[in-house]
Amino acid sequence: MSNDIQSNRIEDTISESDTAQLLSNEEASTSNYTQLNRSVYFEQSDEDELTGSHGIRRRQPVQKFKPGSMNILSAKYESLDYDTCENHLLLDEERKRGYAFIIWKDIARWFVILQIGVVTALIAFIIDICIEEFSGIKYKQLKKSVDIFVLEDKLYIPYLLWVLSNICIVFFGSVLVAYIEPVAAGSGIPQVKCYLNGVKVPRVVRIKTLVVKAVGVITAVVGGLAGGKEGPMIHSGAVVAAGISQGKSTTFNKDFKIFHYFREDHEKRDFVSAGAAAGVSAAFGAPIGGVLFSLEEGTSFWNQALTWRTFFGTVVSTFTLNFALSAYHGHPGELSYPGLLNLGKMEPFPFQFYELPVFMLFGAVGGLLGALWNYINYKLAVFRIRYVSAPWLRVVEACLVAATTATCGFLMMFLLNDCRPLGEDPTKNPLQLFCADGEYNALAAIWFQTPEASVRSFLHDPIGSYKPSSLLLFIVCYYLLSTWTFGLAVSSGLFIPNLLTGAAWGRLLAVLIQYMLPNNTINPGKYALVGAAAQLGGVVRMTISLTVIIIETTGQISNALPIIITLVVAKWTGDFFNEGIYDIHIQLAGVPLLGWDPPPLTHTVYASEVMSHPVFTLRTVENVGHVLELLRLVSYNGFPVVDPPLSDEVEVTTYKRLRGLILRSQLIVLLQNKIYNENANTTWSNLNVDMQMFRNEYPRFPSIDELVIEEWEKSCTIDLRPFMNPSPYTLPHRASLPRLFRLFRALGLRHLPIVNDVNEVVGMVTRKDIARYRVWRHRGHMGMEELLLSSE
Ligand code: ATP
Repeated sequence: MSNDIQSNRIEDTISESDTAQLLSNEEASTSNYTQLNRSVYFEQSDEDELTGSHGIRRRQPVQKFKPGSMNILSAKYESLDYDTCENHLLLDEERKRGYAFIIWKDIARWFVILQIGVVTALIAFIIDICIEEFSGIKYKQLKKSVDIFVLEDKLYIPYLLWVLSNICIVFFGSVLVAYIEPVAAGSGIPQVKCYLNGVKVPRVVRIKTLVVKAVGVITAVVGGLAGGKEGPMIHSGAVVAAGISQGKSTTFNKDFKIFHYFREDHEKRDFVSAGAAAGVSAAFGAPIGGVLFSLEEGTSFWNQALTWRTFFGTVVSTFTLNFALSAYHGHPGELSYPGLLNLGKMEPFPFQFYELPVFMLFGAVGGLLGALWNYINYKLAVFRIRYVSAPWLRVVEACLVAATTATCGFLMMFLLNDCRPLGEDPTKNPLQLFCADGEYNALAAIWFQTPEASVRSFLHDPIGSYKPSSLLLFIVCYYLLSTWTFGLAVSSGLFIPNLLTGAAWGRLLAVLIQYMLPNNTINPGKYALVGAAAQLGGVVRMTISLTVIIIETTGQISNALPIIITLVVAKWTGDFFNEGIYDIHIQLAGVPLLGWDPPPLTHTVYASEVMSHPVFTLRTVENVGHVLELLRLVSYNGFPVVDPPLSDEVEVTTYKRLRGLILRSQLIVLLQNKIYNENANTTWSNLNVDMQMFRNEYPRFPSIDELVIEEWEKSCTIDLRPFMNPSPYTLPHRASLPRLFRLFRALGLRHLPIVNDVNEVVGMVTRKDIARYRVWRHRGHMGMEELLLSSE
């Protein structure tokens, strides 16, 4: 039988040379469309720039681009598809299951969110306890050794102990990150932001990433690095959400056979938004801040139901963590530990009208310092990409930073004898060092505890607790150390180090203000808090969510106005110089992120200029051999499905009418499951085929080379109609770039076929094509630049 089929249908199989022929025919037929330069590598260099029409900054093509360039988009990032494929199978499923299924699915969603909240909180709990316990042991031992060896004048021994302990702990975490899961490095917020924007960052929501992240953050904080555990919690929440909602683990190859119907990009992305929000909530004890974080920082598509579910997740997360931490600290049921970051209860600080400009000044200082922090970190990141990319070098760098941090702390404690009477600071490990009896070294107290406890000290200690010179040196050291630390091969965030630096300079400014106004009583905590907000706002450029997070963390709504003013001014000031740190890292990675708005003045850039053509299309009933060849020849993930030609003569010279859109993953599943017909006239009628077939493979579909297709099968046909999306969004070729942009941004699209006046496919636009148009601002000038795609 198979031989018969082969002999009948062999002429339909298309070889590579046929496909090339098809390409040249299609190219000939689309030659009336102009295309902007694409797929050439460009290098960032001012001499290469030419200004073209529409204010587009074009560059002369060169064959290579420098690693670390900000003007390249990487083709390795695939897009998520937020648009549900409403094919026959899905409609059939809905019809058969009816309203009961809708209700059941909704209940399941709430249940999944509940689990996400609880599991995220438990992970936060474990991380917190480990950090607290291990740090306690480390600093207690160090204190003991300082107390013993200071008398014998052998302080180099505790110094070496400190350096060695930092290096060993950081070495362990760094090896995990550099060799086992590099995507677990840093806070993970840029990666989560990309995911919520609709870009699949490889391995970002895997269990392995979560484990490395959790262990990595413990080692980073216990190892004394200038990093915090809060950012990684947001990433952890996102991984938990992606894992629980799918009811299976691809890492362990285990399918729990639950929540099948959530196995699609749309549902998964909604859960990840809720997970990230639950992470924020656990990190800061800020349920509303968590919801706002997801809204402000990423999720491009948002709806009422998602708001409610996300809020439920954040509340569950805070409550669970609060319950667990309160029990751990011996006050079960008291619920007095809402988040990992505990800044201590702030008193409402009264402020006068004339103080508002002071808060603005703080915001401006924060914006400036934040922009400089981002600039230094960007330069370091480029240096790392170019020269410190080997894993062993990254481990060495992390150990070097660990040693430098201990050295800085030690030198400051040793050289600045900032003695204060015991009892003023609730520090756990007061060090006497060279101070008189009954006194302790104030700087040692800051260094001999976790950075989070140090923020608390700066916010709550009375005004004379630190010498201005100690504060100044601490600010310079910690500022540089924190910018060096962010981007190392360790899992740690930047919230706490920036809050700490900001609180320190806020306190220093408070001392200055007190000096200038000796008759007034200045509350140093007020300015430390405003400084902390300004510094963090200047680096991350978040406004709404950060305001709410700080208000919720400090438990004072009446402090809202100064914080809002400070954060807004910090953002404006910082934005004048560069982008927020997360956006800088996203651009360095070449991620095709879509901003909030289309580039301005681009209404005269038309879809016909942006689109790719000729387009590789498939017919509604397609030959298996052709599909196979096409998938092997090109790596595109979406193919418009078109009407078959009326006769072979006209096929190659005209465009074909659009009937639908099919994804590479769907084609692979069809080939894998051999959903063929033996000849083109047989209509598709396999009642056993349903959506489950696709969901079983989601999200890691096999590659085309893994499929085993017999020679005779190539002459069979596949009827694509029941599987394709029969009503994809399309735009006419005269649509403008802003229109394309809005469609992609608002609907979370992945592919958009471009059609002519009679609905024939003339081009294809993907989100990478849109993301390539970016606004540039430089020294007061503004325009649009066209980035280029690199294959790496
Ligand atoms: P993604 O990787 O975002 O999931 P994709 O792999 O289909 O989607 P891209 O990698 O974004 O596509 O596209 C690379 C280039 O190929 C883009 O310029 C896009 O316009 C073009 N392209 C995509 N699909 C087709 C197609 N079927 N025919 C011709 N060109 C296409």
